[in-house]
Amino acid sequence: MKLSQLTIHEASDLLTKGDISSVELTTDVFSRIDQIEDQVKAYITQNREPALQQAEAADQARRDGEVAPLCGIPLAIKDVICTKGLTTTAGSRILENFTPPYDATVMEKLQAQGAVCLGKVSMDEFAMGSGNENCAFGTPKNPWSLDHICGGSSGGSAAAVAADECLASLGSDTGGSIRQPASHCGVVGIKPTYGRVSRFGLLAFASSLDQIGPLSKDVTDAALLLNGICGHDPRDSTSAAQKSEDYLAALQDGLSGLTVGIPQEYFGPGLNSEVETAVRHGIDLLVEAGATIKEVSLPHTEYGVAAYYIIAPAEASSNLARYDGVRYGHRNSDADSLIDLYRRSRSEGFGDEVKRRILIGTYALSSGYYDAYYKKASQVRTLIVNDYTEAFSQCDVLASPVSPIPAWKIGEKASDPLSVYLSDLLTIPANLAGIPGMSVPCGFSSTGLPIGLQLQAGHFQEATLIKTAYNLEQRLEITNKKPALG
Ligand code: GLN
Repeated sequence: MKLSQLTIHEASDLLTKGDISSVELTTDVFSRIDQIEDQVKAYITQNREPALQQAEAADQARRDGEVAPLCGIPLAIKDVICTKGLTTTAGSRILENFTPPYDATVMEKLQAQGAVCLGKVSMDEFAMGSGNENCAFGTPKNPWSLDHICGGSSGGSAAAVAADECLASLGSDTGGSIRQPASHCGVVGIKPTYGRVSRFGLLAFASSLDQIGPLSKDVTDAALLLNGICGHDPRDSTSAAQKSEDYLAALQDGLSGLTVGIPQEYFGPGLNSEVETAVRHGIDLLVEAGATIKEVSLPHTEYGVAAYYIIAPAEASSNLARYDGVRYGHRNSDADSLIDLYRRSRSEGFGDEVKRRILIGTYALSSGYYDAYYKKASQVRTLIVNDYTEAFSQCDVLASPVSPIPAWKIGEKASDPLSVYLSDLLTIPANLAGIPGMSVPCGFSSTGLPIGLQLQAGHFQEATLIKTAYNLEQRLEITNKKPALG
C-alpha cells in the first residue's frame, strides 16, 4: 500500500511507532499529486515547500514527546478558508491574488496540533454551486469517472480525498456543500451543528447557514478531524459555548436502543432508483446493527429549496458587498469614477452564478419586497425547524439519501441552473435548521458512481451521527474500494 492511501488513523499509528515519518508521508502524497493531478485538478494552489517544513517540524515534535493525532498528517484545505501567507481565492477571479494576512481559527487549531497543509483545493466560486462547475480556475473531475462532476461546492476537497491526493480535507457547507460532494466521490463528510466549529476566517457566503467540516476516507478520520477543529471561539460570535467532545469515543457504541427515522418526503418523486436501492440497503444494515426503524414525516421539506434561495442569496448579496475593488481583490484600472470602479471591478471579478445570486438577493431585500420574500422565507425556515423538533421527538437520527441523483456529466446541466438548485433538496433543510448532517458511502450506481447515505441528528448530536455511520461502515466494507486512476 502507498502511504498516500493511508487514513489519518493508520498514518498516525505508523508515525507514533516510528515506522514512517511525516516527511516521507507528505512527499508520497505530493508524488501522488504529481501522478494524477493533471486528470483530477483538485488543487488551486499547492503549498509544497512550507508543507515539507511543517512535516519536518511535526517529525521533530514527535521525537520530542507526545503529540496530537493530527501531528504530521497532510491535509487539503478548501480555498475559502483563510491561510496566512497562502493565496485564498474562494474560486473567484476577484480574489485571484488575495493572500490573507491571518489564519482562520481552524487553521490555527490544525497548526497547533502539527497538521501539514498541502494546499488549497477547488470549489465553486464563493461556495455557490453543487457541481464545482462554477470555479474561475477550472472544474475538478470525479475520480470515479473523470467526465462526471465531483459535486460542490467543496468539490476539490472531496476529489482530493477520493484520489488520495491528501489524507483528509476541510470543506464548508451552506446548503450541502460538504455532504453532496462527499456522496458523489464516495468519501465521508460531516456538516457540524451551526456554531460547533469556528467560522472566523471562513470567507462568508450566507452567515446564518455556513459551517466548516471534515471530509475523510472513513468515519474514524471524520471523528478525529472534527475533534481537531471544533470548539468555542470568542472571535466568532456565532460559535457555541459548548464543551468539546471526544467524537472518537462514539465509535465504540453499538446501535441497540437507537431509533432511526426514515423521513418519507426524502423518498419522493425524482429520487433515482439506484440511489434509493443503495440507501435502503444501508438502512437494512443499520437494523442488522441493532437499530429500530420508524417512518417519520418532515412535511415542509419541499419548501426548503425555495426558502434557501431567498435567504442564502440575500445574505450573500450583503456579504459580497465588501468586494468593491477598493480594499482588496481585483481592481479595474480604467475606471473614471468611484461608481464606475465598483461596477467594472465587480463585473470583471465575479462569475455568472455569483452575479445571479447577488441580483436575486438584492431584489429580495429591496424595500417593498422584504416581507414578500425574506420574511416569508424566514417563516418557512421556522416551519422546517419545527418539523425536525417533531421528528426528533420520535427518533434519534434520520437516514435518507444525500443527493437524489448520482453525479451528473460535466456540462450536462450548464444551461439549467434550476435543476442544479433542486439537487440540494435533501441537504438544504439541515442548514436551515442548523442541525448536523453527514454523508457516508453506502454503495455505487450500475455505472460505478458512488452513492452516499445522509444522517441527520438534533443540535450538537454529532456523536450520534458518528456512531451510526461507523456501524454502517463496518457492515458495508466498501471503504477499501478505490477509483481506478493513475
Ligand atoms: N449548492 C448550494 C448552493 O449553491 C449549496 C452550496 C453550499 O453549501 N455552499 O448554494
